[in-house]
Amino acid sequence: MTQFAERITEIQQRIELACSRVGRDPKEVEVVAVTKYVDTETTKQVLESGCLHIGESRVQHAVPKWNQLGDKGTWHFIGHLQRNKAKEVVGRFEYFHALESLQLAAELEKRCAAGNHKMKCFLQVNVSGEKTKFGISPVELNDFVRSMANFSHIELVGLMTMAPNTPNREEVRPIFRELRDLQRELQRQKFAVPHLSMGMSQDFEIAIEEGATFVRLGSVLVGTSS
Ligand SMILES: *Cc1c(COP(=O)(O)O)cnc(C)c1O
Repeated sequence: MTQFAERITEIQQRIELACSRVGRDPKEVEVVAVTKYVDTETTKQVLESGCLHIGESRVQHAVPKWNQLGDKGTWHFIGHLQRNKAKEVVGRFEYFHALESLQLAAELEKRCAAGNHKMKCFLQVNVSGEKTKFGISPVELNDFVRSMANFSHIELVGLMTMAPNTPNREEVRPIFRELRDLQRELQRQKFAVPHLSMGMSQDFEIAIEEGATFVRLGSVLVGTSS
């Protein structure tokens, strides 16, 4: 087995354990292999090991990789996106995890419409309120979700958050729990937002216990260098 096949097997076991602690079906949890630290050749090996969801966060690194490997998996843009780079991401990335303004949503919609593309979007919510983090504040969520009804090429599929980077893993649990509560509140109002993108290498098991359906794993799965 390649190193990635071994690591994904280990991670799948950890996912199954986390699911069993809370009575979830592990099939509900999709792993996005974050390849932002590694080169195209290593990304190819990750795909060949059976990790078919690939996450990238910088346009200038992602596009050359996609141009070589785009048809081999499903691509997720997970990082902050400037409006003038939206055209690079549309048509390549099926998922965008970091939607955080209506201007960006309008730009993505325009680009998708022009090329007849679709894009599944996660709304990034700054649950922790850290000034260094991107995302809308929870109080803005309702209006934002209502405005998404104006768009037909980009589809809101869920909410995303990043937990604080802290050695105390249990400090992140309330952040994930709040995102899930926000999702439930939207669902009570009949907005369909089925997915939660939350959990990274340090905290994915806690995120799964709190309801994550997509975990974004870089260092623990792909590593931090080629
Ligand atoms: C880098 C990154 C990840 C993966 O981080 P690890 O801690 O290496 O797993 C996940 N999500 C986003 C948005 C990232 O930028």
